Amino acid sequence: MSEESISLEDLKGIGPKTADKLREKGYDSPEKIAVMRPEELADILKITKKAAKDIVNDAKEKVLDKAVPAFTFKEIIQKRKEKIQRIPTGSKELDRIFRGGVPTESILTIKGEYASGKTQLAYQLCINCLKYLKRKVIWIETESGTFVPERLIEMAKAVGLEIDPENDFIVVPASTINTPYSQFLAYERAVRMMKKKNMDVGVFVVDSFSAQFRAFYTGREMLPDRAKEQARHLGYLDNLASKYNMLIVLTAQVMDIPDQGGQLGERVKTGHTKRMVGGNVLSHWSTYIVSLQKLSTTDWEAVIADAPDLPMVRCRFRITPSGIRDVK
Ligand code: ATP
Ligand code: MG
Repeated sequence: MSEESISLEDLKGIGPKTADKLREKGYDSPEKIAVMRPEELADILKITKKAAKDIVNDAKEKVLDKAVPAFTFKEIIQKRKEKIQRIPTGSKELDRIFRGGVPTESILTIKGEYASGKTQLAYQLCINCLKYLKRKVIWIETESGTFVPERLIEMAKAVGLEIDPENDFIVVPASTINTPYSQFLAYERAVRMMKKKNMDVGVFVVDSFSAQFRAFYTGREMLPDRAKEQARHLGYLDNLASKYNMLIVLTAQVMDIPDQGGQLGERVKTGHTKRMVGGNVLSHWSTYIVSLQKLSTTDWEAVIADAPDLPMVRCRFRITPSGIRDVK
């Protein structure tokens, strides 16, 4: 697929003047011309329907392969094989469930109560990305104190990795994030720095994804606005995931469900009784949702709550000074 974009002037029968006229009306790309009705175009340009049809067909011819790529099953498999990398979680059991680690080009949402291990799992994915993929990390901290370099250094040592303090991480600290809007700007800021430093980033973490939304959109009447803004964030992150072959890791807190029917529904889905903050929008956009729960002083549980290609299974793991590990 070519990266070059074509302009209106590249279409047969469209010179600079005609192109300007079209742009004025909002038809500023060959893609837009390609889906126009010839009558509409004829009307705007005051040309015959036949001439308009020729322009639309030419636009279609020129953009279709590029704008709408289509693949065979074989090509899709081949592409995935070449592109998708798997990031180990630290727990062999969890890796096995993920068929060898959490794949890039996807959004992993980690949900759970406080101290359920969301941040620790995100740390481990960062460390393993640096260690095994040799790719860098972006960390968006939306609540102060969740990005703890000392803990990352401790986990890195356990896998024989020395963190390069200049080049391994791009961090946007929580001190600059106080609304969902500044959170969105934080993504853009981090991506700009990534491009400027020419960094190959494999994991992009937003910890927590939901906290600012929860604080900003209070009250039920604001739910549609919240959903819209969340979709904008997730659309942007989803695009990053495929454009740069990244794993996006989002953490989400949970809340009590007031009605028993809802509680039961959640229990059926994950065995855990609390619902993720961020609700449906976050669920729809996530490729994988993993629900975490602390079981005892030593053990935690992970449940695959939603995945397009994995069964809903659960496993136990430990959080040790070395990081996420299996239960012996
Ligand atoms: P929150 O919603 O408050 O952000 P969280 O789900 O992100 O919570 P984590 O910070 O990932 O929770 O998990 C915290 C738990 O991880 C601690 O309660 C502790 O049991 C464990 N933990 C953290 N650091 C270490 C360490 N160095 N050694 C062993 N266990 C640790
Ligand atoms: Mg946390």
